[in-house]
Amino acid sequence: MSGNEMEFIQEAFDSNWIAPLGPNVEAFEREVANYVGVKGAVAVSSGTSAIHLALCLLDVQRGDTVFCSSLTFVASASPILYQGAEPVFIDSEPDTWNMSPTALEEALIDAATISKLPKAVIIVNLYGQPAKMDELVTICNTFQVPIIEDSAESLGSLYKGKVSGSFGEFGIFSFNGNKIITTSGGGMLVSNNTEALKKAHFLAAQSKDAARYYQHSQIGYNYRLSNILAGLGRSQLSVLEERIKARRSIFEIYHQELSHLPAVSFMPELNNTLSNRWLTALTINNEETDMSVTELLTALESENIEARHVWKPLHLQPLYINCKYYSHKTFNVSEQLFQSGICLPSGSNLTLQDQMRVIECIKTSLRKIP
Ligand SMILES: *Cc1c(COP(=O)(O)O)cnc(C)c1O
Repeated sequence: MSGNEMEFIQEAFDSNWIAPLGPNVEAFEREVANYVGVKGAVAVSSGTSAIHLALCLLDVQRGDTVFCSSLTFVASASPILYQGAEPVFIDSEPDTWNMSPTALEEALIDAATISKLPKAVIIVNLYGQPAKMDELVTICNTFQVPIIEDSAESLGSLYKGKVSGSFGEFGIFSFNGNKIITTSGGGMLVSNNTEALKKAHFLAAQSKDAARYYQHSQIGYNYRLSNILAGLGRSQLSVLEERIKARRSIFEIYHQELSHLPAVSFMPELNNTLSNRWLTALTINNEETDMSVTELLTALESENIEARHVWKPLHLQPLYINCKYYSHKTFNVSEQLFQSGICLPSGSNLTLQDQMRVIECIKTSLRKIP
């Protein structure tokens, strides 16, 4: 926490705005919209609900298809299923670990051939690293397919000086407990389309018609963020820049200490982009070490250090096993990253002492191998 949260919470209690609306909600929406550089924002209960609302606003229905990055957390794609639509998964490219423009273009050409273009493309900015937006936006514009930018992990990251989340028709953020700033649980939908955002407010608050009584003509959701949690968000937003600095310097230390090991390659940062380095991720090269990712995770665990595999690609998930998937040329980047990738402890409050313990454990583990 930033330390100022209680002031905002106290203010909510003092003014008795405890409901999912109130001055903190409106102020948080305005502050995030200003930060991202878009016309408006809608505060919601999670990043997942923000993606769901974006799909509703793009009229995604049963029988439609939606393209989505494969190497991501399951929540990027779950709302596609909520709508009864079909996900098609797109591989990563090696420079950002994000959606491959080559694979996307191939998928869109195929879709156009059978006159079944997707209703949207969900582009994820993995672990804080922006995707190749110029290329991806150009391809989507050619086929006139709107983009939803899943920036749940990349709040504050930059692509050619422009803030992550501002590239698509919609952008979404998450303030879940594990993200770079948190409201304990929460999310935000952002856009320059103010009409659509008005509709998002309506859908997120049970789609209540403008009548004197409770009248509803379409499906609504209970997706609004509470005024108390929006207070947390405002306080957290004020320390976002510090958080980004902290995460980036954690990355720098890992890089300094480990990049000379032949078996280790860090997740790259594309030229002209700035990653918030939400998580430090690296890959282990099995031509340089016999140690598998799982074995390294076990070695860390035995030192009471929690590290993780990178996301298991969604096209490999049992839930999505029958979905279409387009790989990057002949090379399957997301599967390769899953086989070799690991996320290191990266919390903004990680102490240097704890970080050195992680580093020593990795050095020792990788040295063990003949
Ligand atoms: C966390 C996350 C989400 C979902 O956000 P919630 O607030 O947890 O619902 C979606 N996409 C990605 C890439 C995420 O990391």
